[in-house]
Amino acid sequence: MQPAELSATEIVAAVRQGDLTAVRCTEAFLDRIARLDGSINAFLHVDREAALATAARIDERRRAGKPIGPLAGLPVAVKDALCTADQPTTCASKMLAGFRPPYDADTVARLRAADAVIVGKTNMDEFAMGGSNENSAFGPVHNPWDLARAPGGSSGGSAACVAADMAPVAIGSDTGGSIRQPAGLCGITGLKPTYGRVSRRGLVAFASSLDQIGPMARSAADCALVLETIAGHDPGDSTSLAADVPHYTELLDQPLAGLRIGRVPEHYAAGLDPEVRAGVDEAFAVFRTAGATIVDVELPHAKYGVPTYYLVAPCEASSNLARYDGAHYGVRAEPGKGVRAEPGKGVRAEPGKGVRAEPGKGVRADEFASPLVEMYCRSRGEGFGPEVKRRIMLGTYALSAGYYDAYYAKALKVRRLIRQDYLEAFERVDLIGGPVSATPAFRLGEKTGDPLAMYLVDLYTVATNLAGVGGISFPCGFTKGGLPIGFQLQGPALAEPTLLRAADRFQRLTDWHTRRPKACA
Ligand code: GLN
Repeated sequence: MQPAELSATEIVAAVRQGDLTAVRCTEAFLDRIARLDGSINAFLHVDREAALATAARIDERRRAGKPIGPLAGLPVAVKDALCTADQPTTCASKMLAGFRPPYDADTVARLRAADAVIVGKTNMDEFAMGGSNENSAFGPVHNPWDLARAPGGSSGGSAACVAADMAPVAIGSDTGGSIRQPAGLCGITGLKPTYGRVSRRGLVAFASSLDQIGPMARSAADCALVLETIAGHDPGDSTSLAADVPHYTELLDQPLAGLRIGRVPEHYAAGLDPEVRAGVDEAFAVFRTAGATIVDVELPHAKYGVPTYYLVAPCEASSNLARYDGAHYGVRAEPGKGVRAEPGKGVRAEPGKGVRAEPGKGVRADEFASPLVEMYCRSRGEGFGPEVKRRIMLGTYALSAGYYDAYYAKALKVRRLIRQDYLEAFERVDLIGGPVSATPAFRLGEKTGDPLAMYLVDLYTVATNLAGVGGISFPCGFTKGGLPIGFQLQGPALAEPTLLRAADRFQRLTDWHTRRPKACA
């Protein structure tokens, strides 16, 4: 029995029954990481010793007849945006290089308490800002289906490591699509739960009103298994929901007869790749066969999703990232390296005037208002990558006096309209189906010169977060060139049981999710 060929559900059953040891299972995945990750770059940190030691303790407990947790022996890869007390947490940023958090994120603590084995931290776009993983300070992730292509982002490392069977399960975070889009582009299944279903404590904040942690795996059934462990109220996150956590895995069997799935004309916008469109149409046909009814519904404000998201998210980010100033958090620019202000000699900013850089000249060392300002400027200037700086500037601009009402306040009003669209649609249908992304995986480098083209990649995913509802993405076919096509279902708040059940039913009727990239055999 090759552990990498087993589902997460099969792994935990085999470990429980003693057919597979946690050590052998963990070793099998670690060996695959050692063999394959050189060309994929999905991991920023792998802790072989710690993972094997954890696995050995689980095996010992099982042999001694002591109780073991519901995920006992299951290797899990965790996005580097979640704090881990025993492993570095960098958010793929130079700003957090070498940072070791003093505590585990709630999700990580729950995984450990369930006896999962954390194998490592996965690569991502810096601070989760991006849709291709090319914004990582530690190099891009390569899509296992075609190494010249992007895996999507920002949870691209998590998606790629599952697609390449380097871990059966990974944890991602989704602020505007970062679980669903890379899952779609890598041919795996990813669930963004309802806002607040999973605690955000210990998730490095990007846009706090949108961020949500969720499972990524090869099937909806495996996502259900992991969600059972990571969901639930956490007194440490005031926005986490107090609602009971259902037994998601036990709710999968109910047939789909009578389920109403909405189809949205807005989803067929110009730019939708014909092969993606064909895959999505076929997926609707499968759901019809399964007994669901397809109903046309409208989300009239969906077209404002991208502009609204790219105001709300950067505004929140500019505030959240203010803490990385070299003093409170983050790397500090070392004095004596590069430019240095002479204390007492630098120019002083006049009240109301500040220090001004001349065009083409930049700010000279002796032009910093004070050594403290220099330290802030250089720490942030050197610690953050270009996309993070762009978001901070966009957000700071949109929040500044005189622009606040025109941009941020207006975006919040449109956000409300988008949410209202969903509430109305969910009076007529149980779920909404459609594409995850307009195109299959694009080439690395294809969009890096054009931030706007990169933002448009999020067309079908951002509205879910703006509305605070849930969504799941899973493969519904392949292009002629062999790239996965993703299908997305969105559901009302706390409809995870229906999302998982519908995706699971689809996977019982199709085998797209069982295909594996040849390069990773
Ligand atoms: N691609 C989107 C962005 O760049 C979404 C990111 C996310 O969900 N973390 O902001």
